Amino acid sequence: MRAVRIHEHGGLEVLRLEDLPDPEPGPGEVRLRVAWAALNHLDIWVRRGVEGHRFPLPITPGCDFSGVVDRVGPGASEAWLGRRVAVAPGFSCGQCLPCASGRQNLCRKYGIYGETCDGGNADYAVVRVENLLELPDGFPLDRAAAFPLTYLTAWHMLVDRCEVRPGEKVLIHAAGSGVSVAATQIARLWGCEVMVTAGTPEKVQKGLENGAHHGVDYRREDWVQAVKDWAGKGGVDVIVDHVGADTLPQGIWLLARGGRLVTCGVTSGPLMEVHFAPVFFKSLSILGSTMGGLGEQHEVARHVFAGRLKPVVDSRFSLEEVAEAHRRLGERAVFGKVLLQVDPGLA
Ligand SMILES: [Zn+2]
Repeated sequence: MRAVRIHEHGGLEVLRLEDLPDPEPGPGEVRLRVAWAALNHLDIWVRRGVEGHRFPLPITPGCDFSGVVDRVGPGASEAWLGRRVAVAPGFSCGQCLPCASGRQNLCRKYGIYGETCDGGNADYAVVRVENLLELPDGFPLDRAAAFPLTYLTAWHMLVDRCEVRPGEKVLIHAAGSGVSVAATQIARLWGCEVMVTAGTPEKVQKGLENGAHHGVDYRREDWVQAVKDWAGKGGVDVIVDHVGADTLPQGIWLLARGGRLVTCGVTSGPLMEVHFAPVFFKSLSILGSTMGGLGEQHEVARHVFAGRLKPVVDSRFSLEEVAEAHRRLGERAVFGKVLLQVDPGLA
């Protein structure tokens, strides 16, 4: 089979398309013929490497993918054969306290396809049967690849960590990122008022089309003042921040009493000076979030399959164009998911 392989960390040139033997599913696993894969920032980290973290090289990247089950391993039901599926990207030990509580993302053995082991940037991928999300008839395989990681992440941030309520004011930074596109739709689904920030007028416009009520172009306007004008004296109830140093310290001052700020990343940098006085005098919560539980993955999938949440596709590439796809994801203009079509024969 064809597989994208990373043997050493680096630039686009380390993405190699190679021929590998077709993988065989082990106990409790199935094999998919991969139809589509979607890129995430995680793929860029796997490619570039992260200081202090060791990835199992060589690795086939790709945490989001969809396809058709074509082989089952020992103990996996043959009823899966021929079914069209998306894949929950996270897996865990299944036996510890967090796993038994449905909080698999807190398991010490939590892993992600394409980061901890081989993923879906290949003709075939092997996954655990409990990670399968069966698609309803007619649901397109490209959209099936486009939602699992980002919608799980955004759902866990807003619904589990922040416990959003109808009518709350939610500020979401970097409107075009995969997580922010999902967060905007999820906040709307929960009846919230949403404002987004973005770095171009086009992205602000797309953020509004994606469901935000208000948007601000932080390159042309004072975004802090724009948020104050929108939120009024009460302030913002919830802030979704994966930008970090450039936005988080100001966010603390924009929050309402009882407000929550949730972060799943620090793309502008992890080190910052934060004034902690508002944290206690306004009873704020500063929350961290990574991925989510398997139950939440199924819950968010149900909304996607029913059309209440709609993954946004930015662009499509072939598996051979994986380096171009990585380049696109790194561009500022990207809005929504960058997809790789692996098997054009699968509908
Ligand atoms: Zn566990």
